Amino acid sequence: MNKLKLHNTLGNKLEEFIPINIKNIRVYACGPTVYNYAHIGNARMAVVNDLLVCFLRTIYPKVTYVSNITDIDDKIIAASEEKNIPIKELTKKFTDIYNEDMSVLGVSLPDIQPKATDHINEMIELTKLLIQNNFAYEKEGHVLFDVPKFKDYGSLSGRNRDEQIIGSRVEVAPYKKDPTDFVLWKPSPAPKPGWESPWGFGRPGWHLECSAMSEKTLGLPFDIHSGGADLIFPHHENEIAQTCAAHNNTHDLKSFAKYWFHNGFVNVEGEKMSKSVGNIRLVNELNKEFKGEVLRLTLLSAHYRQPLNWTRNIIKQNSTMLERFYRNLKDLENIDAYKDNDQIDDVVIEGLYDDLNTPKVIAELNVLSNQLSSADNKMKSRIKYNLLEVGKIIGILQNNPDTWLGYGKSAILDETTIERLIKERNEARGNKNFDLADQIRDELKEKGVEIEDTKNGTIWKSV
Ligand SMILES: [Zn+2]
Repeated sequence: MNKLKLHNTLGNKLEEFIPINIKNIRVYACGPTVYNYAHIGNARMAVVNDLLVCFLRTIYPKVTYVSNITDIDDKIIAASEEKNIPIKELTKKFTDIYNEDMSVLGVSLPDIQPKATDHINEMIELTKLLIQNNFAYEKEGHVLFDVPKFKDYGSLSGRNRDEQIIGSRVEVAPYKKDPTDFVLWKPSPAPKPGWESPWGFGRPGWHLECSAMSEKTLGLPFDIHSGGADLIFPHHENEIAQTCAAHNNTHDLKSFAKYWFHNGFVNVEGEKMSKSVGNIRLVNELNKEFKGEVLRLTLLSAHYRQPLNWTRNIIKQNSTMLERFYRNLKDLENIDAYKDNDQIDDVVIEGLYDDLNTPKVIAELNVLSNQLSSADNKMKSRIKYNLLEVGKIIGILQNNPDTWLGYGKSAILDETTIERLIKERNEARGNKNFDLADQIRDELKEKGVEIEDTKNGTIWKSV
């Protein structure tokens, strides 16, 4: 039997996944800060986690997946001021756009999508515990986490103290006892938004919200905490420190989350994505140009931990590959998918058990596709089953092949006219009047309809 192995950032090694409670696997992923359109890096996190959750659901009876929305943050406040839109309106707008963009990529909504502003009380309570346990201090209206008191700080990222100081990359504020200390709560002078707290009117630091929301929605400890690799330090390091220190579990970092799962960066045409280079690829724009399924397959074409180089060429390659798979399914439309024991071939699925190795799985699907031409009906039936069932897990090949390939749709001609012309052409061919047959074919092509003669008759698609 296959066993699921995942790379755990905490400990930095491949580990067998052993659930805390086999009846309910609990996963938390850091979601978007909603003040702008999501880029392809955000989408990679969403798609990779969607795959993880979908695969876990094929192994275990229940998975609870939580991914939050950060709807209060300095960048949100700045965007709201700049665009002169109230914060609530701005964050609602970009939450809706985010969910819609991700659904085009086949990403299901998380079971719970908590919002930071709905959990301010939990954050205040967590901060009180940290002060009580002597891991946090109040200074000038700020509450700060006292990092040197948390002995294992740096365990997740593997950064030593010097690297932590460089990594914090902010000017050392005068109210900090130590340069690595981070903000749990800060003042928020009017007209900036805020909440009443024992430390005055203010708002939470970003790191605090995920500790509060994951505990509230999943309970402690939970199985998997995930996010983009850019969040390992300081965000996830800080989350561990907060949660373990608040519950006096500093000796056991896994008392928060057992496995830490991180996806790699997305580069664009070989360069780091950045505002200054102007190469940020927004999902909303890409969705207008490409099919969501093509983008999804492209995002899964590299192993999730590796950097993904996003190029037009790689999108094209994945589009061609999907087209070939759909053509295979079209060729197999009169063959029933294999049902003998409802098992995906081991060689095809084992890549997923091995730390979600999607390139291996995709390569195996291609092997099956190449075997089709020489396959007997029994083999064809198995190939169809594998394509459809693996496709279901990785989120591809679930559309009707005719629809995907564009058969049966034309913007210019109505269907009756097309069918009539095809019939006339076939009659002309039957009468060996090939000039007329070619003429009809050309006429259709001019009007954006391409025909193809198959064993099962003539089919058409718009081009
Ligand atoms: Zn987070």
